[in-house]
Amino acid sequence: MSGNRDCDTSPRRGVSSAPTGVDRRAFLKAASLPCLAACAGWAGAGRAVPLLALPASESDAQFIREAKFYEKLPYKKIKCKLCPRECVIDDKERGYCGVRENRGGTYFTLVHSRVVTAHIDPIEKKPFFHFLPGTVAFSIATAGCNVNCKMCQNWEISQVRPEQVRSTYVPPPRLADLARQYQCASLAYTYSEPVIFYEFMVDAAEAARENGVKSAVVTGGYIQADPLKKLCPHVDAIKVDLKAYSEKFYKEVVNGELKPVLEALVTLRKQNMWAEIVYLVIPTLNDGEQEFKGLARWVKSELGPDVPLHFSRFHPEYLLKNLPPTPLETLERAKAIADAEGLHYVYLGNVPGHPAEKTYCPRCRRIVVDREGFSVSAVNIRKGKCQFCQEPIAGVWT
Ligand code: SF4
Repeated sequence: MSGNRDCDTSPRRGVSSAPTGVDRRAFLKAASLPCLAACAGWAGAGRAVPLLALPASESDAQFIREAKFYEKLPYKKIKCKLCPRECVIDDKERGYCGVRENRGGTYFTLVHSRVVTAHIDPIEKKPFFHFLPGTVAFSIATAGCNVNCKMCQNWEISQVRPEQVRSTYVPPPRLADLARQYQCASLAYTYSEPVIFYEFMVDAAEAARENGVKSAVVTGGYIQADPLKKLCPHVDAIKVDLKAYSEKFYKEVVNGELKPVLEALVTLRKQNMWAEIVYLVIPTLNDGEQEFKGLARWVKSELGPDVPLHFSRFHPEYLLKNLPPTPLETLERAKAIADAEGLHYVYLGNVPGHPAEKTYCPRCRRIVVDREGFSVSAVNIRKGKCQFCQEPIAGVWT
């Protein structure tokens, strides 16, 4: 699960075996929950603990809840209203994401509390740079996704149906307990696409909040306005993977659409939700200067100059192994263009040690968050302001 940090997917519908090309035993060893115990030591717990003692059942009853956003249609059909795809689904069939099923004219999610992977990660890995810097996030995913990205780094879990991967029953109160036990400031819904486990995410966020734990969402932003607005009061930060600034790319590489993602970003601004944007720069596909300029102009005019924009380095993955990693010069050119357009916080990602990993005060230019890779060595922000010149620094700092 390393490399690119965005999370793109393509469910393989109707397949009951392990993902093609992956030895199931090796995959489960690498991706499934026991890895959580190994990661826990990193977070300072100092020991590997069997965190998830609740066994998974052979029945899927414990994972099923009625879906929140859908319309009933004649002949027991339904129309899903969660993401812009608006799947129309016959009885006993599933939507494109593979984790929602029509059973007799009622629509259900099949992945509530159905965790396929969990890690304790630095929040900088998501990446969030203006949200509780230096803390760790209890990070979870279920199977499935609502898009189909050729550069997906987490395809082993995002491109499968829930039955294709081992999962563990981890209900929201248990998640909140685990986050507190491992001193995580937040739960992060990540790796696959949290939109498709929406009901679980909302319940987990409520349980977390009751326990003093915040919630951070890592998403492609392919979601309808109504569910997005209703999600905002429950969570504290949302990172959107803006995969390109062209419909052509979304159509050919993502199997999605750009327009709804831009609309989602505007919705987040109107809801006063803290949001950061990541743009994975892929050689030849979305690395044109005009695209960088158009993106930066749009962000500034529609969202304002304080939204962090992370240009992240691509590493060959999944169906784009034929392309090289992003040249550093390309990333630096993207940053220079976005800086020139007036954005205040433009970062480079997947280039550890680069000066563009740090947060600079937009007024005095001193370093307000000293960061290298996923490590934070100093936060010079007090009460949301630069401690050197008192300029407000946008973000969630406590
Ligand atoms: S969430 Fe899933 S079922 Fe619903 S419209 Fe999107 S892809 Fe289709």
